[in-house]
Amino acid sequence: MNSPQETIRSVRELTHFVDGARINGASQRWGEVFDPASGAVTARVPLASRAETGLAIAAAAAAFPKWAATPPLRRARIMFKFKELIERHADELSALISSEHGKVLSDARGELTRGLEVVEFVCGIPHLLKGEFSEQIGNGIDSWSMHQALGVCAGITPFNFPAMVPMWMFPVAIACGNTFVLKPSERDPSTSLRLAELLHEAGLPAGVFNVVNGDKEAVDALLTDPRVAAVSFVGSTPIAEYIYSTGAAHGKRVQALGGAKNHMVVMPDADVDQAVDSLIGAAYGSAGERCMAISVAVAVGEIAEPLVARLAERARTLKIGPGSWPEAEMGPLVTHSHLDKVRGYVDLGVSEGAELVVDGRDFKLAGHENGFYLGGCLFDKVTPAMRIYREEIFGPVLCVVRVPDFHHAVNLVNAHEYGNGTAIFTRNGHAAREFARRIQVGMVGINVPIPVPMAFHSFGGWKRSLFGDHSVHGPEGVRFYTKLKTVTARWPVGMEGENAFVMPTNG
Ligand code: NAD
Repeated sequence: MNSPQETIRSVRELTHFVDGARINGASQRWGEVFDPASGAVTARVPLASRAETGLAIAAAAAAFPKWAATPPLRRARIMFKFKELIERHADELSALISSEHGKVLSDARGELTRGLEVVEFVCGIPHLLKGEFSEQIGNGIDSWSMHQALGVCAGITPFNFPAMVPMWMFPVAIACGNTFVLKPSERDPSTSLRLAELLHEAGLPAGVFNVVNGDKEAVDALLTDPRVAAVSFVGSTPIAEYIYSTGAAHGKRVQALGGAKNHMVVMPDADVDQAVDSLIGAAYGSAGERCMAISVAVAVGEIAEPLVARLAERARTLKIGPGSWPEAEMGPLVTHSHLDKVRGYVDLGVSEGAELVVDGRDFKLAGHENGFYLGGCLFDKVTPAMRIYREEIFGPVLCVVRVPDFHHAVNLVNAHEYGNGTAIFTRNGHAAREFARRIQVGMVGINVPIPVPMAFHSFGGWKRSLFGDHSVHGPEGVRFYTKLKTVTARWPVGMEGENAFVMPTNG
């Protein structure tokens, strides 16, 4: 056991990353970062003031003109090098993610890979930034369009994907010629700082990518500073809505991705084993702390009984342990307060009258009694009126809603306020096609439980899961981080005598 002095020494003091270097500024406020597996405090994170956030914005603003003028091919080469460095440091980065988030190592590796794929996508930025050209739109006149960088872009990210979600944003923004200030989650900030170092090792000029650690004070500084041109946000819906309205009121381009309640519809003709396998991973993987986690299983018709029976069997035998255990399927929750919140929802479900088939509230792991663990929980006979159905729980709690047929299933999904992801499991091609057409949700899986689009497509939900017009990464990301300019040009040969007072036409 550590002495108090050793414990104090083993608590790392984190920094910001501004203008190419780690700085600790003059932060007056600090937050605590935990190891969710043991419950111990492992680091202190500075919470930036408005003035400290301003330093990062100033560095990004100063770096912008030169970076925007750097040929896209050179920007792409830095991204190639960055990709190489992420691959080389993948074990270290995955361990860092797991140590502060709590997810199992293989899952941490998975999220890093999904982030890396965005870097791979923007290695093709010269191609992605190509505009359109029309020759001879009138006599002696040509026209073309260009995609130009916006300026300083800000990213504000959640705790649940400390590598992947920031990497949905900054590689695209930077490759497009913008500079960037990232405000990662204060609950697991170390991965962003390490990524900043690797980007600079890859050759990124100082000031192009900055990390400011903090909370609402730093976020508000980013939202209101006139030097920030655009804000990307991923987090819970109330904050997403606040970010969208405040950023827009300050003249910024904003994309704000919010919360979710993802339904998986299991049709009576589905392969039950396949559906159960998929549901278990999608509901309890990463302890349910995924914006694309399935939190509602919609059992259609007679499949409900066998589905619930098999789900219960599997939920009771989940292998739960620290993220570093190779055999663990599910780790702890991120903080004690989040654990309390999720447990409170399970209590609520019981009082609302749902049937708690598997109760994980008393789960304890020997030797890790202070870790933030909760066993898998399964509710059956949940109704749309219940708060456990309407609200995002963000933990290892799966709700089963029983409906009589396909139409009730579609109406149920469409009536929910969130529209991030959904899935249907069926052997019927017509039902699957109708589902994809009629469902009011941004990302749809057909016999695929978590349909997260690849980096060369774009990720984004509908309804109250996304505020703004653009999804992230892929072609939508390039559109969000660039503005379109269209040039119409004529070289003055034989212009004499043209009438300048009428609308030019080709008639
Ligand atoms: P959160 O909304 O609490 O925090 C997200 C970010 O906002 C953090 O950087 C945080 O510091 C900042 N923030 C928190 N409160 C703020 C306030 N009052 N004013 C200004 N900024 C504030 O979210 P979280 O708990 O870190 O992450 C989980 C949430 O993120 C879930 O709702 C999940 O569904 C959502 N999420 C959505 C997606 C998606 O793609 N739609 C992806 C990942 C996570």
